[in-house]
Amino acid sequence: MLTEAIVANKAWIGAIVFAGLFGAERAFSSAPSIRDPSRLLRNGVLWVLLLALSPAIVLPLTAIATDHPLWSRPSAWPPAATLVADIVLLDFWTYWLHRAYHEVPILRRFHRVHHLDEHLDTTSAVRFHPGEVAISALLRVAPITLLAVPFDHVVIFETLLLAESLFHHSNVKLPAAVERALSRVIVTPSIHWVHHHAVAADTNSNYAAIISLWDPLFRTRSRTIRTPAMKIGLEGVEDKSVIGLLLAPFQPAEKK
Ligand SMILES: [Zn+2]
Repeated sequence: MLTEAIVANKAWIGAIVFAGLFGAERAFSSAPSIRDPSRLLRNGVLWVLLLALSPAIVLPLTAIATDHPLWSRPSAWPPAATLVADIVLLDFWTYWLHRAYHEVPILRRFHRVHHLDEHLDTTSAVRFHPGEVAISALLRVAPITLLAVPFDHVVIFETLLLAESLFHHSNVKLPAAVERALSRVIVTPSIHWVHHHAVAADTNSNYAAIISLWDPLFRTRSRTIRTPAMKIGLEGVEDKSVIGLLLAPFQPAEKK
């Protein structure tokens, strides 16, 4: 079964997508590529912490949530349609969670670490404060138990989300017609880079993760068009060292 193969090989799928896009964005760059080993090191250290948190917190919480659904799904439900519905519902949840990370001050403190990156590429997709990863896993217990989502479906969604996140943060240049067509269905770099534009109105828009429909539907799609020279990061705030990033949520709040 394809679903079993995806669940068993999530790490490999992530590594292959990462390697492919990491190479492609250096061969075919959209914005000028920057060579900054210290930035790659920062993003790399946060990625290692994220990889460590997965078996320590994310997987156990997912297992507990999927083992304790609030109701039982009828066995007659068609598996393929149920899987697609679960992916759409978890993506809908991810849209609102991401929006909450921008609109709720305590959550924004953690999410700013992701936005302080002053360039975007595949490594930005795995640069999150460990606190955000743990909070997201904890909050996701609610939709999983309420909807009685099976463990396999959560892992398949996570695999898709990882691949999509690597893609929409990447600096890979696609033919304009291909990117335009894709952006009608899924979140492309042209949509997500605007979310990282160092202008508050754009940072607080384009929250969708996989399905691009959520932003137009909930009126959070920015009209800004991505340009190669677009300044990335947070308005008026500079990136920090690894230690500075880890401590950032616990320090006095700066601007968004
Ligand atoms: Zn964000």
